[in-house]
Amino acid sequence: MNEFKQRICELQRLMTSQGYDLAVVSWTDQMRYLTGYVENGHKRLLVLLVPSTGEPAFVVPSLNEQAARANRAGIERIVPWQDSDGWAASVIDLLGEMGIPDRAKVLVDDELHAGHLISLVEIVPGLQVVAADEAISMLRRIKNTVELDWMQRAADDIDAVADEVMGSLVTGITERAVQQMVLDELATRGVEPGFTPLVCFGSNGAMPHHDSNNTPLHVGDVVVLDIGSMYNGYHSDITRTFSFGSPAFPEAVAVYDSVFRANHAARALVAPGVTCEAVDDAARRVITHDGFGDFFIHRTGHGIGMSGHEPPYIVKGNDLALAPGMCFSVEPGIYLPSRFGVRIEVIVAVTESGVRSLNVEPSAELVILR
Ligand code: ZN
Ligand code: ZN
Ligand code: ZN
Repeated sequence: MNEFKQRICELQRLMTSQGYDLAVVSWTDQMRYLTGYVENGHKRLLVLLVPSTGEPAFVVPSLNEQAARANRAGIERIVPWQDSDGWAASVIDLLGEMGIPDRAKVLVDDELHAGHLISLVEIVPGLQVVAADEAISMLRRIKNTVELDWMQRAADDIDAVADEVMGSLVTGITERAVQQMVLDELATRGVEPGFTPLVCFGSNGAMPHHDSNNTPLHVGDVVVLDIGSMYNGYHSDITRTFSFGSPAFPEAVAVYDSVFRANHAARALVAPGVTCEAVDDAARRVITHDGFGDFFIHRTGHGIGMSGHEPPYIVKGNDLALAPGMCFSVEPGIYLPSRFGVRIEVIVAVTESGVRSLNVEPSAELVILR
C-alpha cells in the first residue's frame, strides 16, 4: 500500500473511532497530504469525499478531471461537474451511493469556501458539520524519517539563503529589495519560497507581521528577517535578528540576549511527554523575568510540515504532550513599539530522548554587521 493510501486508511480509522461518516477535503495541504494531488479550484468546488468505509471520490470541475485522475492515492472515482449544471446533483448522488446517512457527522476542511459549505448544508440539510483540521492534523503532526529528511533539506536551504542575504546588505537598500533578494536566492537554488519573506528595518521590526515596503536601511537599524522555503512540499521557517552597524538603541543588545535565552530555555525543556504549553511557559518566564513580558505578544511557536503553520501550537492552554517526530518552531520575540523588535526562530524536531534543531545555531550575541 503506498503512503497516500495508507494516510487515507488512517483517516478512515480515525473517523470510525470518532463516529464520523464522511470527510470533505478541499484543495488545501490536507488534500495534498492525503492524495498527492491538489489543484487550485479557482473558487469552483474541488473536493475529496472520504466515507468512513469504502472508496473515496473526487468531485472536481470538469476542467480538472484529467489532473485529478493522476492522484497518487489511486483514487479512481472522479466525478466531474460542468459549469452549466453545477455540482449539487453529483454530490447528492455520490453521497447516496456511499451510503452516507441523512444526519451524517461530517468532517469539513477548515479552508473549504464558506459559500460551498453553505450550499452543501442547504442541499443536505441534516448534515452535522465539524471542522476537520484538528482530526486530520493528528495524522500529520508526527513526521517519519523521510519527511524529516525533507524538512532538514529545507532548513539547510533557508539557512544558506539567510547567510547570503546578510552578507549583501548595504545602506539605503529597501525592505522590498531585500525581499526580492531572498526570492532570487531561493530561485537560484531551485526551491520555492514557503511564504512572502518578512523583512523589517528598525521600528518596523516592532510589528511582527509588518508588510515589507520601501523603507530604506539605515546604519543603526535592528533588522528582523523571517524567511522560509519548501523542499518536496515540506517547509522551513527561520527568523534572524541582527543590527546593521551599532544599534541606534543600545538596549537592543540586552533585548537580544533575553530572547536568545528564552529560545534556549524553551528548547531545553522539549522532550517526549512535555506539554506544548510548558514549552511556551519556559520561554515566557525568561522574558517576563527580564522585564519584557508585556512585549512578547505572540505564542512561542507553531507546528510545521506540509503547511507553514499547523498543529501542534506552542501556546498557553495547549496541554498536548509532545512526541517523537513532531516538528515546530521556537520563536520568542520582544517588540518595543516605534523602536525595534527582536525575534529568534528555529525549527526543532522532537526525538526519542529530547530535541534537535534543524537549523544552524543562532548567534548567542546580537550580530553587528559592517
Ligand atoms: Zn508569524
Ligand atoms: Zn514561524
Ligand atoms: Zn517565521
